[in-house]
Amino acid sequence: MDEFELIANYFSRDRAGGSVIVGVGDDGAVLEPDQGRQLVAVVDTLVADAHFPAFLDANDIGYRAVAVNLSDMAAMGARPRWMTLALTMPEADATWLEGFAAGLYTAAVEHGVKLIGGDTTSGECLVISVQVLGDVEPDRILLRSGACPGDTIFVTGTLGDAAAGLKILESDAMESRLESRFLRPTARVDYGQALAGRAHAAIDISDGLFADLKKLLTASGVGAEIRLEALPVSAALETAMGGDTARQLALTGGDDYELCFTASLECLPDPGALPVTAIGTVTAEKGLRCLLNSKPVTVREGGYAHFR
Ligand code: ADP
Ligand code: MG
Repeated sequence: MDEFELIANYFSRDRAGGSVIVGVGDDGAVLEPDQGRQLVAVVDTLVADAHFPAFLDANDIGYRAVAVNLSDMAAMGARPRWMTLALTMPEADATWLEGFAAGLYTAAVEHGVKLIGGDTTSGECLVISVQVLGDVEPDRILLRSGACPGDTIFVTGTLGDAAAGLKILESDAMESRLESRFLRPTARVDYGQALAGRAHAAIDISDGLFADLKKLLTASGVGAEIRLEALPVSAALETAMGGDTARQLALTGGDDYELCFTASLECLPDPGALPVTAIGTVTAEKGLRCLLNSKPVTVREGGYAHFR
């Protein structure tokens, strides 16, 4: 199978039409953006054995490569529309490619995203780079930099599941719900768009709540106080790890791809079935202070220690 057969066989599902004037097959793609909307571009590269274990199912790898980008779109309040794929692989294995493409298109179809081009190369290690393009109504974009003192800090979903799921995947244990939270991140694309123009600041949680909230606070020039007992933890995580470890993972474990945002309470759009939890307050005083049952705790990489 040469490069052209590979592209034709696995990455040519989306035909030109609608907003895609020219898709896969020419030197470049040609798109027709909706009048008056602003374009948003994100890209994320996943390197095998650095960002995910190479032994994962190709299907999950494909899904995840798209989902992590959709999560960035969600954090911008944008509507994802098109994507490109740069794929570097040690070999072209038909079974692997079939699974990878199936997972990739599953995530894309879930959110109406079209694959419009890419690049395919051979190289020593598997590297997947997905770029997603989307759009947003002018002046409704969600940035990290808009948090104001007095805002409530919210997170979507539950936290810590993916970090526990990755540990479980790397061991021999089985806990399918936690594993799937790592393998199939649920990018909060719809709620992100509902927050556009309403929330003051947003970020998606990829490195862990503590690290990512600090980025948002720094960008906004503010600080915050959060209540660790308020962090949303799933029953599956609490059962698998116990309450204390579950809370530590919820604070510092990565790969959740939930949204963390700040807003005034009255402006919160209806999240429907999606859990949205208030976890703290933005303060004028800088720094991120964590309280556990009203007592300050210090947070280090991988967890926190009670303040001494
Ligand atoms: P060029 O030599 O002009 O870079 P390529 O041979 O790399 O063209 O690609 C041919 C066409 O296939 C282009 O439209 C490109 O966008 C598309 N393409 C290449 N690799 C992929 C891929 N992995 N997924 C989707 N489209 C791809
Ligand atoms: Mg090329």
